[in-house]
Amino acid sequence: MLVTQVMKEFADPNRAAYWCYKWRERGARIGFVPTMGALHDGHLALVRRARAENDYAVVSIFVNPLQFGDARDYDLYPRDFEADAVLLSMEGAALAFTGTLAQFFPDSGGNLAKVALRDPGSAAEGLEGELRPGHFEGVATIVARLFELVRPTRAYFGEKDFQQTRVVLELAKELGGPPITVCPTLRDADGLALSSRNARLSVEQRREALALSRALYAARAAWQRGERDPAALCAVLARVAGDSALRLEYAEVRDPEVWTAERPRGPLARAQALLAAFCGDVRLIDTLRLDAPSE
Ligand code: AMP
Repeated sequence: MLVTQVMKEFADPNRAAYWCYKWRERGARIGFVPTMGALHDGHLALVRRARAENDYAVVSIFVNPLQFGDARDYDLYPRDFEADAVLLSMEGAALAFTGTLAQFFPDSGGNLAKVALRDPGSAAEGLEGELRPGHFEGVATIVARLFELVRPTRAYFGEKDFQQTRVVLELAKELGGPPITVCPTLRDADGLALSSRNARLSVEQRREALALSRALYAARAAWQRGERDPAALCAVLARVAGDSALRLEYAEVRDPEVWTAERPRGPLARAQALLAAFCGDVRLIDTLRLDAPSE
């Protein structure tokens, strides 16, 4: 007989913290997936992994205002808690929870300006950290708070937000855990990386957005032909991504294991390509490890 467990849903993070505490006390392993909701198969892949490697998969859904510099981007961010809960329950998550800013940070009284922000460390320097001032402060602050509430056995993040994974790895090191698993990027069959923001693209914009993955694959092909010069790899990225209606913010490479604010010099032994571009008023990012077939 197939037994499906009923997923718990809490609108109060303190109830979630108590649920996690109770099960941890009984020795359960908790795999944690923090999200901002509007879930797609990329998120669900993280949940599947969390579930497969632990007794329970716990998912937070919180559109964190601390990490949005742009109020309009925050307002337009898609939200559909009920649909998310259905997907998570079908995926076998044990608990989904959300909360308000005031519940997550009681000392702030719900006032954004009163939340004590964390220093996101050196991985926040350059690229996203430079173009979105305050973004990684907001990410580090909510992730540390979520870790404190859930105290997971392990937490799961997507490579798609590559610089974020560097920030979270540094944060977890500083906090003394949890261990972090970085999961591969899920893409639509045509190459477009799944993103909650894709819901805001028109049919035409979605077609234009394919220039991002095209550029990444072109850079990988250049790597496979032996190109190791960072500037040459960036030129391939910029040329292919630029040959579209996208407004490119950056086309960069970094050493995937040693984050640097600036582009590394000299021939690379490993390379992570990183792109950010506006498609209309929707900002998209994408990334690909060039030296290893990660997908
Ligand atoms: P978000 O809701 O955008 O904050 O994302 C929640 C988590 O899902 C983050 O760790 C993301 O990196 C991850 N994620 C987002 N898109 C994808 C994707 N296409 N494939 C895999 N993971 C993803």
